[in-house]
Amino acid sequence: MDLSTLAIATTRSAIAEKRITAANLVEEAYAKIRKEDPEIHAWLTLCQERALAQARRIDAMASRGKPLPPLAGVPVGIKDVMVTQGVRTTAGSKVLERFVPPYDCTAVARLEGAGAIILGKLNCDEFAMGSSNENSAYGPVCNPRDKTRVPGGSSGGSAAAVAAGMVVAALGSDTGGSIRQPASFCGVVGLMPTYGRVSRYGLIAFASSLDHIGPLTRTVRDAAIILRAIAGHDPMDSTSANRPVPDYELELDRPVQGLRLGVAKEYFGDGLDAEVGAAVEGAIARLGAEGAEIIPISLPHTSYAVPTYYVLATAEASANLARYDGVRYGYRSPRARTLADVYRESRDEGFGAEVKRRIMLGTYALSAGYYDAYYLKAQKVRTLLTRDFHAAFEKVDAILTPTAPTAAFKLGEKADDPLAMYLADIYTVTGDLAGVPGISVPCGMTRSGLPIGLQVLGRHFDEATVFRVAQAVEVFTSRA
Ligand code: GLN
Repeated sequence: MDLSTLAIATTRSAIAEKRITAANLVEEAYAKIRKEDPEIHAWLTLCQERALAQARRIDAMASRGKPLPPLAGVPVGIKDVMVTQGVRTTAGSKVLERFVPPYDCTAVARLEGAGAIILGKLNCDEFAMGSSNENSAYGPVCNPRDKTRVPGGSSGGSAAAVAAGMVVAALGSDTGGSIRQPASFCGVVGLMPTYGRVSRYGLIAFASSLDHIGPLTRTVRDAAIILRAIAGHDPMDSTSANRPVPDYELELDRPVQGLRLGVAKEYFGDGLDAEVGAAVEGAIARLGAEGAEIIPISLPHTSYAVPTYYVLATAEASANLARYDGVRYGYRSPRARTLADVYRESRDEGFGAEVKRRIMLGTYALSAGYYDAYYLKAQKVRTLLTRDFHAAFEKVDAILTPTAPTAAFKLGEKADDPLAMYLADIYTVTGDLAGVPGISVPCGMTRSGLPIGLQVLGRHFDEATVFRVAQAVEVFTSRA
């Protein structure tokens, strides 16, 4: 059984038909991780005991001939910003180097409840702040498609582990693009659900009004199966939506014929790499040839999205990160002598440079004299951006864009230039700000063999259409 080609359904049926055992599969996965991860560095913590206990539960069900749950025996990894009971959770930060949470994130508990086997925790940018995984306090992740390049970020470990075939699926989080952009860089599928579709309970907060949990997988179908397992109301998160969760797989194979697909000119301008643009336009033409109606649209406030995002995300982060004070939990500096020192030294030694930069930016934007000029203004622009989407979705059923302006860049290439790094988020932050769902699906390769992602954005809670369009792209791309 080759882990790197397993899908959810094939894993489950192989276990049900006793062609493999979940315990064997887990051992194989760990062997592969031990062999290949030293060069990729996707994993921060492995939880063998927990994984084997779950594998034995699944094998016992199979041997009793019981019907298996939808994710039975599927090896998965969890971005290390989701808390796991009894398993160290760092958020990629030195501040949480020794943090062992007392409870499980809802999405993690639901995955496990559906039969998935959690192998461990995946590397990421510190507190999910970054686009390259180079901001992890534990060192960067390499892109399995080209180890001299970044896997994208901040869910870089999640994308790399799926692309390298160490797991069938992973959970990531997306605040400004952190599921979709690494999926695009590593050649896998990454879904950001509608805001509120998946509970954020147990997700270590970066920017609460923008944070989303979602799957990274090798196929659109697997993303649809995982979303169904983790979505739905959770009394522990008041922003989680109390709406029924559809069976996303049902509509997956419906042809795209008759769908109205919008192409916004703002996403095809300056800064878009020519090869990326050509691949995305090729896929759009192909969808047109299959009978979708391709409609030019405009999302006029798009050029304000990156500055708006970086004001709001840093403002919320500055408030969320105030809890790491060296007192309640997390790192405490051994050098501190006074109370003021405990705060100052613990935060100074515990946080990395990017996190500090964001706390300063966000504190500034929220300070008395500047609140109206920055934070309040950004909130107003966020409303305008959301209205752009509402207006567009009157005319179209989904919107097609590149996921990122370039393919994966070299490790170190942008590490010293935060502004250049921020611009890598230009096509993804709009979806987070508006709260609409978005997926990145591979649609081609550059001449040097780097994956290119196409993004499909949909109406609030219409993941079904997003999946359906992505499925069509996956089918013709994999045949090409
Ligand atoms: N790259 C963006 C940032 O650095 C997005 C991060 C994210 O989605 N978590 O903020």
